[in-house]
Amino acid sequence: MLFLKNAKSFLRAVWSFVRYGDVPLWQGAEREEACLACPELKLTQTGMFCKKCRCPHWPLSDLRTKWRMRDLRCPLNKWKRRKMVRAKFRVNNIRTYTDDPNGLKTIVLHAVYDDGIPENQRFAQATPSGTVEITINNPPASDVFKHGQEFYVDFTPVEKSAE
Ligand code: SF4
Repeated sequence: MLFLKNAKSFLRAVWSFVRYGDVPLWQGAEREEACLACPELKLTQTGMFCKKCRCPHWPLSDLRTKWRMRDLRCPLNKWKRRKMVRAKFRVNNIRTYTDDPNGLKTIVLHAVYDDGIPENQRFAQATPSGTVEITINNPPASDVFKHGQEFYVDFTPVEKSAE
């Protein structure tokens, strides 16, 4: 019964992974840190697995893959759980300021709409509208934004602001 329950939640996580992509980098790193310090970690010739999960030793159940799956939990609750909302935005406008010597730019992104791409259809249904406007005073960072480029935007509550 426990195996079936685990298999069901694992399949749900795989589905979510396919639909919505990886967890943010910081979350994967937190999970990795927890597993590397955990006595339930098992290294084999084929990969890195969790003894507690009792998953078959397949590439999909390798911990390095599981760390990337957003809907997966550690069976001992050693992975921090934080609520997060992911949206998908597209760069619609880039304003430059010719009189600014530091290359100041304002980037305007809008939530993706239903353009026939299945992933965008799902995001458009979940977050039908939204605008992000950000002014950046750092050319290497602002150069990442190109007109029409799409971005995942993750909203993660801050547990406690840094002092
Ligand atoms: S998933 Fe949880 S129980 Fe398994 S190795 Fe990682 S921290 Fe340990």
